[in-house]
Amino acid sequence: MDKWKGIIGQGFTPKQFREYVAGLSWDDWLAEFIVLHHTAVPSLVQRPSGFTREHLLGLEKYYRDEMGWSAGPHLFVDDYMIWVFTPLTVPGVHAKSFNARSIGLEMLGNYDVEAFTSGRGEMVRENAVAAIAMLSAALDIDPDSLMFHRDEPNTTKTCPGRHVDKATIIQAVKDYVTSEPAPGFTQLSASQADLTQTQFKSEEFGRAKEYLPVFQAAADAYQWPAELEAVMRQALGPRWMAWVLMGIASRESRFGLLLDEDGRGDGGHGHGIMQVDDRSHAAFCDGEGWQDLRSSLEYVHHSVIVPSFNYLGENCFELVKEDYEALFMATVATYNCGPGNVRKALEAGTDVDSLTTGRDYARDVLARAKALYGALS
Ligand SMILES: [Zn+2]
Repeated sequence: MDKWKGIIGQGFTPKQFREYVAGLSWDDWLAEFIVLHHTAVPSLVQRPSGFTREHLLGLEKYYRDEMGWSAGPHLFVDDYMIWVFTPLTVPGVHAKSFNARSIGLEMLGNYDVEAFTSGRGEMVRENAVAAIAMLSAALDIDPDSLMFHRDEPNTTKTCPGRHVDKATIIQAVKDYVTSEPAPGFTQLSASQADLTQTQFKSEEFGRAKEYLPVFQAAADAYQWPAELEAVMRQALGPRWMAWVLMGIASRESRFGLLLDEDGRGDGGHGHGIMQVDDRSHAAFCDGEGWQDLRSSLEYVHHSVIVPSFNYLGENCFELVKEDYEALFMATVATYNCGPGNVRKALEAGTDVDSLTTGRDYARDVLARAKALYGALS
């Protein structure tokens, strides 16, 4: 019997799973495709609240002690969580001849009999699609290469169940990948910040004052549409964009006060005062520009905010009732959760902040901008 490879045994929401996957290094083994399964036993009915850590420990006993295997499938997905079982960085055991080259994902349910397009089955499906999409992006796996267990030549199983259609799943994965551009920016949580919104410690205030000319220069470097200028000037004065950029800098890193010694935050992914994320802006973060506030602001302004504004202007102008201020609020929200998500929120008729961290990103940034404008102008 091969040595048991151990389990992770942790459950993640799709958002947490994205971060978990981004933190893995794939030096030892790279999966080439993903294999989809259903558990059949247990079914959804047998697990009315999904999996728990106890269930995963039970599965470990089963695969290790009863089956005598070296590992099990990599993921167990229920209607709430994506559970990591066998580490994603080593081969698992789930589908004979596919094992050496693939990640095995088990969906909770018996989809020979249970519904897959409604109720809990649909929720499991959504989490599975999210997990497949995130892994496809992380490992550069073509969604079309997805395999079902029943594709494996040695099996007679119907797994992942007769109700599961491959073309539909592959399309859903593709839609997920394109509609969900990895959020480019992350910011530290309010608890880490140890400050309530729009209240500034004197140290942060000192930095804001010191950096003010750099923000103003960056803001002056772009000409916004006159309609937007007019409404924003009313709220934040003639240097309005400088205050907005400062509001972002405050929210992201308290002007750098929350960063570690080498200028990073968010587990090393956020770069510099503006917290540019290396998972979405690899080229910029590979260089040295992010360490300099001036070039960071130039990048953020020209290569992130302006394109997001133009994207929303093209796709969502009617959804914001052709209101420039609303369009700009939506643009600020994209800095946190990406243009695709903000578009989704607008199309669903919900608040532009509904998909941002803490559901208050744009509102909070504008509040900070206003406070800084009031204090420093
Ligand atoms: Zn299977």
